[in-house]
Order: sequence, then C-alpha cells, then structure tokens
Amino acid sequence: MENKEVLLELKGVQTYFPIKGGLLKKPTKFVQAVNDVDLTIYRGETLGLVGESGCGKTTLGKSILQLVKPTAGEIIYDFKDEFGKKDLRKLTNKEMDIARKNMQIVFQDPHSSLNPAFTIYQSLTDPLKKFGIKDKNQRRKIIGDILEAVNMRREYMDRYPHEFSGGQRQRIGIARALCINPELIICDESVSALDVSIQAQVLNLLKKLKEERNLTYIFITHDLSVVEYISDRIAVMYLGRIVELAETSQIFSHNLHPYTEALLSAIPIADLDRKRKRIVLEGDVPSPVNPPSGCNFHPRCKKCMDICKKDRPQLKKYIINSEEHYVACHLSENKLRENI
Ligand code: SF4
Repeated sequence: MENKEVLLELKGVQTYFPIKGGLLKKPTKFVQAVNDVDLTIYRGETLGLVGESGCGKTTLGKSILQLVKPTAGEIIYDFKDEFGKKDLRKLTNKEMDIARKNMQIVFQDPHSSLNPAFTIYQSLTDPLKKFGIKDKNQRRKIIGDILEAVNMRREYMDRYPHEFSGGQRQRIGIARALCINPELIICDESVSALDVSIQAQVLNLLKKLKEERNLTYIFITHDLSVVEYISDRIAVMYLGRIVELAETSQIFSHNLHPYTEALLSAIPIADLDRKRKRIVLEGDVPSPVNPPSGCNFHPRCKKCMDICKKDRPQLKKYIINSEEHYVACHLSENKLRENI
C-alpha cells in the first residue's frame, strides 16, 4: 500500500479469561486467548487475520472493539479531528460511545445476528437513533439507501429476517454495520456460513463498498482462499500470538513460518496437473491454559530445535522483495529463506 496512514495500533495486547475455582476462590488459571499482540492497521487496507479455530483471532477482534476487555496492552485508534489518537482501553463510557460509531462488526451467522421479531427497519433504526438521527423519515431514507448499497430493494426494510435467504441476511448484516458510516469494519468469519457462490457475491460486495466508502477491514477467517481474494496483508495467528505478517502475495509466494507453510499446503488446488506437498500437522493445538514453553508451535513443528523449547521467538522484521515481512521463528534468516 502506498501512502500508509496508521488507523489502529496494537501494542502488547493480552486478553486472558480467568477459570474460576469456586464461589470465593480467586482464579489461579487463565485461558490465554490473546498474548502479546503487536499489530498496525493502515487506513483503507484489508488485513486478513487467519489461523485454526481457537487461535484467538475472534477474541482479538472483540478486544479491539472492547466487546471483551483486554487484560493488558494498548489499542491506539487515530480519531483524527474528533479527538486525536486515543487508547481505546482508557476511554470513558461516553467517549467509547462516540468511538463505536467509527468501528462496527459483521458477525459470522446471518441467521442469529438479526432479531427474528424485528423488521429490518427496526433492527437498523436503533443505531441511527443512538447517533442522533431523531427524524423517522430521515432514518427510513438512510436505511433505504444503505439497503440499495448492498444490492437489496429499499422496501425490504419492512420485512422480517425469516423472509430472506442466508446471503440476503448477511447483506443486511453488512447494511447494519454500514448505516452509521463507520471507517473500520471487523468481519468475523462473515462469509463462512454461506454457500460458495453466495460467498463470492458477498466478498465482491465488500470489495465494492470498501472502494466506495474508503473503509478499512479486518477480515477474520480460517479460509485462506477467501483471505487471499480479499486481503492486502495477512497476519497468521497461532495460540494467541501473531507468528507471521506480510503482504498477501508474499504470504502465498514466500511464506517463512513453518505453521503458515502447513496451513497453505492444506488449500485444495483445482488444477489436477499441479501438485502441492501436503504438510500434515501432528497432534492437536495445545491448550491456551498451559501453552508450551518457548515457541508455542514447537510440539508440532518438524523443524524444531533445542532453543525452540526454551526461548520464545519474537516477531522480527525482514525485508523480502523490498516488502516488510514479519515472522516469529528461531530459524535464521537463511534457513527461513530455504523454506521459500
Ligand atoms: Fe519451529 Fe522453532 Fe520456528 Fe517454532 S521457532 S516455528 S519450533 S523452527
């Protein structure tokens, strides 16, 4: 991306959930869902956040939006003229209300993310009321316009969710996120519950809306084909930590981390003449209550060395093909490059 302008900066973000032992007992164990995440998100980009189920990607998205409270770290959002750069963790409730106007989420399940007892108008009107649009006719106009923007008819606003297909409901979910004009949208597995042909329609719609409205997306998914199609950069997460981060083309052509390599080897190839060696990861993802010492990935890594069991690798920056490429692995740069 040219002219990169930072929208959001995460520094050492941790989100732990206590495991309660009893009524009066203090928790002694924690689920370490997100651990020490440093990440920069640029205005106007789509950042794909990928990893296996349970790697902490959804918790990281919710931590950014303060839907779950991070335990430590800073989440600095640049509100520009509104109130400059602010750590979202330190905002008052009133400031957080204003901040929420800038940040919205599209959930995975279009069936449960809309209230079945509400018409589409009723589902979409509350955020508008909350952000100061008191006039009903004006709200109807905004909702009609936004429905048209997601390729639906404006009169659909008086219908109920059960009258729509899964793809249509997901488009309504996108319309609900868009109606208060946010700049950042977190899409949490937003196309995973849809058929492949409908996925393509929704992805194309998200791309179109991004261009038209200058949006920034964090696209959370376990599906690497989807993330390849939509993302400018990709961050790979494993057991609560980011292990690799680079431009999408770099991740697919010059990935460095053994975990990323294994994830990519599992993508099916349509062309029967092309073959890719499948890397099968042995064992399950370790428990985030007791993550392994050293490199979290070491019990499953075929390239594991002694140092990997003791020392945690930091996310280091490399320059590959003139692009910044971050990877957390003890393999030396030359060894990493042998992976390419
Ligand atoms: Fe594998 Fe060691 Fe690199 Fe971890 S640090 S990914 S165990 S080689």
